[in-house]
Amino acid sequence: MITKTNPDEIQSYLVDAANFKGNCSAVYFPETHDDIVEIVKEANNNKTEITVAGNRTGLTGSGIPSKGIVISTEKLNRILEINKDKKYAIVQPGVLLSELQDKVSEHGLLYAPDPTETNCFIGGTVATNASGSKSFKYDATRNFVEALKIILPDGEQLNLVRGENFADGNTLILKTESAKKITIELADYKMPSTKNAAGYFSKPDMDAIDLFIGSEGTLGIFSEIKIRLIDKPENILSAVIFFNDESSALNFIDDLRLSSLNPKEINNSENINVLGLEYFDKNSLKFLESDYPKIPDEADAAVWIEHETNKESEERIFNSIAESINKHNGNNEKSWFALNLKDRKGFQDFRHAVSWKVSEYITKQNVQKVGTDSAVPVKHFRIFYDYIKGLAINSKIAYLVYGHFGDCHVHLNLLPKNNDEYKIARDVYRLICQKAIDLNGTISAEHGIGKLKHEYLEMMYGRSAIKQMAKIKKELDPNFILCIGNIFSSKYLIDQKL
Ligand SMILES: Cc1cc2nc3c(=O)[nH]c(=O)nc-3n(C[C@H](O)[C@H](O)[C@H](O)COP(=O)(O)OP(=O)(O)OC[C@H]3O[C@@H](n4cnc5c(N)ncnc54)[C@H](O)[C@@H]3O)c2cc1C
Repeated sequence: MITKTNPDEIQSYLVDAANFKGNCSAVYFPETHDDIVEIVKEANNNKTEITVAGNRTGLTGSGIPSKGIVISTEKLNRILEINKDKKYAIVQPGVLLSELQDKVSEHGLLYAPDPTETNCFIGGTVATNASGSKSFKYDATRNFVEALKIILPDGEQLNLVRGENFADGNTLILKTESAKKITIELADYKMPSTKNAAGYFSKPDMDAIDLFIGSEGTLGIFSEIKIRLIDKPENILSAVIFFNDESSALNFIDDLRLSSLNPKEINNSENINVLGLEYFDKNSLKFLESDYPKIPDEADAAVWIEHETNKESEERIFNSIAESINKHNGNNEKSWFALNLKDRKGFQDFRHAVSWKVSEYITKQNVQKVGTDSAVPVKHFRIFYDYIKGLAINSKIAYLVYGHFGDCHVHLNLLPKNNDEYKIARDVYRLICQKAIDLNGTISAEHGIGKLKHEYLEMMYGRSAIKQMAKIKKELDPNFILCIGNIFSSKYLIDQKL
């Protein structure tokens, strides 16, 4: 097994896409499940902290160590099985999402979770319960994870299959492969009804597998993942619609969201049922204009929309959407409609470009990302949007807004030019989180908490909930070695009085 300790060789494991920076003494590259067990057992004996790294595209510092060692999953990169008939795949955690999507597509299948960034590993997406532009219809990664092979922080192995092990109320009993029994008292906070990636999943009678999905590496290391696949749609209608005023774009989204939510069934193409509604405000369009000169000058907002179609439904769906564009004064003439797969991929790149350029900008400015990941229930969305935009304008800091507006999920990114602006931006960020909480939403719908958002998670659930989460971790990781500092501060593990 390769191990790297040379500082030059491990630099790239010490920073993520949020420009969060860390430290470690070595990076290990296991090639098998047993390699991981060996590293974990030794680290547990020596009480050495381990951080598990996917492809470090995370935006919260969760894949970046503060100290100790890193286990990189990049050599665990094999697709072990694609079963076309039963529609599942079994993969190692270091498989690239883009590679998996391409491979299952060759079998006429679709792996539906689709974070904007496809350069991430499947293990990372399960650990963060990633979601994205198509989660409006398909839901987040959680909905597609069928089984996990997990190495616990003491080296024990846990095999969890969805539907086989449920909590009894708030008590969950886990049985490892060596028949060790672990009893866990689940947290009793109520999760928001929105898309959510904040803290441990917790519900009475929940499936054991859901505790580990979205746990940001803190409870165990996934060495094998079984995922559910669905049939690849026959075709997809894809368009970027430009609007000359923002409220028309928002009304267009409201209309299509409403018709899609009723009914919301996978592969039902009888009704309008969009895959996603991705929003770009004027500042986002300006931010992209040098790379995309075809953005109309007069555009105040844009919406990227996708919809499954087949031969029978194509025309009807196109007409329905066109009707909605006209009703809301969309710029029909200058909007972009995909004519082929290349165009569709181009629109996907257009959406990715805006997030990517923000990461590039903050790295250049050498500041950490100040980008919201909040979602709120539909009925509060417009109030939320107006409020946070007002805050951004008043701050006088450059900003842009984009996001998964089908899910009422907003990425408002402030772009501070210096440290003073960075401090103001953090205050604005805090106010936005508070508003999302007041409106029964979440402070993180998809990126997770990592090392950057502890205080906001505490605002959302309260201190006693954080203590409950820390207690769950202590049950599984009594020596406090695995992904320390993700989700909550290590002080909750050490200080009994907190
Ligand atoms: C431009 C851009 C756009 C993005 N858009 C989206 C988006 O739309 N939706 C979204 O959800 N995210 C988005 N992200 C964030 C990021 O891509 C996701 O969080 C992704 O899931 C991280 O995967 P990764 O392999 O890079 O993991 P890393 O960042 O390396 O790690 C993330 C977490 O997973 C844990 N982990 C990794 N592998 C394992 C394993 N085998 N076992 C246990 N824990 C493990 C790590 O410890 C860490 O806690 C975006 C990022 C960028 C840069």
